[in-house]
Amino acid sequence: NEHARSPEHAGADERSGLYEHDVKALLREAGVPVPRGVVVDGTDFSAADALTEPLVLKAFGPGLVHKSDAGAVVLGLRHADLATAAAEMRSRLRVAGFLVEEQAEAGVELIVGLVRDPGFGPVLLAGLGGVWTEVLRDTALRLCPISESDARVMLGSLRGAALLHGARGGPAVDVDAVVKLLMTVGGPGGLWERLELGEFELNPVIATPSGVTAVDARYLPA
Ligand code: ADP
Ligand code: MG
Repeated sequence: NEHARSPEHAGADERSGLYEHDVKALLREAGVPVPRGVVVDGTDFSAADALTEPLVLKAFGPGLVHKSDAGAVVLGLRHADLATAAAEMRSRLRVAGFLVEEQAEAGVELIVGLVRDPGFGPVLLAGLGGVWTEVLRDTALRLCPISESDARVMLGSLRGAALLHGARGGPAVDVDAVVKLLMTVGGPGGLWERLELGEFELNPVIATPSGVTAVDARYLPA
């Protein structure tokens, strides 16, 4: 029942028509690694029992777009903490439900997006992501479809490219897995061809020495 769809969720977000877990289900089908997770509507979190701690709790609901700013994301939870953390969110926010997922290991946080330029059409965006996206403004753009060498050039052109190769004593990340992800989104037959005219953003994608995980995903229809 990972990311199970239920009718009351589908289309409930007036902004995008899809919630994070819906977009992640689509990504998983396309071969993009996403955390294991379950959707919980009520107060019974037993559906999350099979997930491995530490857990992440995220509330979703109409208008809950920037979840961290709204206090709708909590990291580092144990199973026993879920109900209390959820009740606290419900007391503050208009919550339709919760996504409970496994917490990915820390790594380099990237942003991968698809933007539709009115003149040029679908453009793949890749850069340094996470909380510093707006501050760093370190991104590369390429018209779709991209080739594998385009993907490598994009990553190499980032000012922070050294972070991928183990700057400051950190380990090098699995760059091939990042390249594969960029191809899945922006390569021939990639998601850019399938998601009609919409735009989407994976921020962050966490890259580690053992692979990549898209831990947040947002879809914006045309
Ligand atoms: P938003 O961008 O809407 O504020 P996110 O889903 O991106 O919310 O979560 C905020 C931050 O929490 C992310 O940038 C990431 O650092 C961390 N995070 C979210 N989900 C996970 C996860 N499953 N594993 C590890 N870290 C996560
Ligand atoms: Mg995010």
